[in-house]
Amino acid sequence: MSSHPLAVFLTNDLSAISRGRAFPASDLALRRRSGVGWVPANLALTPFGVIAPDHPFGPVGDLRLMVDDEAGDGVQITGFRTERNLTAFLCDVRQTDGSEWAGCGRTLLKGALADLWAEAGLRVKAAFEHEFLLSGQRGAAPQAFSVHDLRTAQPFAEALVAALDAAGAEPEMILPEYGPGQFEVTVKPADGLKAADRAVLLREITRDVARQMGLKATFAPIADPQSVGNGVHLHLSLVRSDGGNATADLDRPGEVSEAAGSFVAGVLRHLPALCAVLAPSTISYLRLTPHRWSAGFTAFGHRNREAAVRICPTVDLPGYDRAGQIHLEFRAPDAAASPYLVLAFILRAGLQGLREKLSAPPLVDGDPADLDAGRAARLGVRRLPESLDAALAALQADSVALSWMPEPMRSAYFAIKRAELSIVGGLAPAEQCARYAAAY
Ligand code: GLU
Ligand code: MG
Repeated sequence: MSSHPLAVFLTNDLSAISRGRAFPASDLALRRRSGVGWVPANLALTPFGVIAPDHPFGPVGDLRLMVDDEAGDGVQITGFRTERNLTAFLCDVRQTDGSEWAGCGRTLLKGALADLWAEAGLRVKAAFEHEFLLSGQRGAAPQAFSVHDLRTAQPFAEALVAALDAAGAEPEMILPEYGPGQFEVTVKPADGLKAADRAVLLREITRDVARQMGLKATFAPIADPQSVGNGVHLHLSLVRSDGGNATADLDRPGEVSEAAGSFVAGVLRHLPALCAVLAPSTISYLRLTPHRWSAGFTAFGHRNREAAVRICPTVDLPGYDRAGQIHLEFRAPDAAASPYLVLAFILRAGLQGLREKLSAPPLVDGDPADLDAGRAARLGVRRLPESLDAALAALQADSVALSWMPEPMRSAYFAIKRAELSIVGGLAPAEQCARYAAAY
């Protein structure tokens, strides 16, 4: 049987699911101009495959998935078997006349990046560090960080690295993590939009390679309520117009600049509201609990893995520039969140901190859960929301953060979350985990 190469135009939506339409790759020149059709109500899809009943769109209206100048020749999704190659393009969702549509997460991120540049003269370099669970491999007898686990994950591990490389995602590291069957995969930093595109591709490619090898990879925020969660830590540095690292100031506490301190203060101020976007599943709140090295509190810490914002370590060896390496890690996000929304909201909150010239939050040493109430109050350390409901209420109550989500995205987002809560909110935690493991 002969096969015809396919190309696909994709959008990663409010539920962090990549959806799109494929066409013969020979039509690419045409499709670059025309895009492919899309439907507004698609934006109201929950992660469980049904459209939220009270979404704002109805049956009327049309949109286009369109590539931008960043798209280049697209991305090769090679997977494991070469006959299943696919050329993928991460698109913006636009109006039929090509103008912006305020439901598109990728467009939201472009706006946040443009405002950070226009108002503060800053760009960002970012990388999303992902954890996931792999199952189905033979001989698995989990041992955290072990050679044994790495060996049982071969040849998946090298197939994944090869597929990420072929997709231009610049793989950096793959390692067995702490949880049973848990792995972490990292890619090199890139400019803001490209970093978010890479995160979308990384999830698709990881699940794809596993599927083609008869394994299963899931990025669900947590798979077993008793175990550790799967984080998506956002590593970020602020970059000056001359390309220098605006995050570092070796003479200040934590070696972070005044600007980076204001940026973090903005993020921590709005973090309870941001949780509704960064940690948007019901089970995200099983993960965002103390002692799981995720993020339970609005804490800023130097090399502190219980802090929601961590100043990362540097390599202090000959030939390494210390100031060039200083960067921030935002630890609350998980893979139920769209990378575009995660980065857009963190940039918006950081920019708000810069506008208001907020001072850097004090650094928290040790576990924030161990602070007594008085000391926590003095350090500005608050517990993050403990449920999706509470996070959504925090977002509704924070008019500044709410303004970062324009209509119709806002109505669609809350409709999805209401539907999600009604589908899984009443299930036992382990059943909720199983539903999300199937979705992510
Ligand atoms: N699994 C942890 C999380 O849920 C992160 C562990 C680590 O890599 O520090 O975020
Ligand atoms: Mg990890």
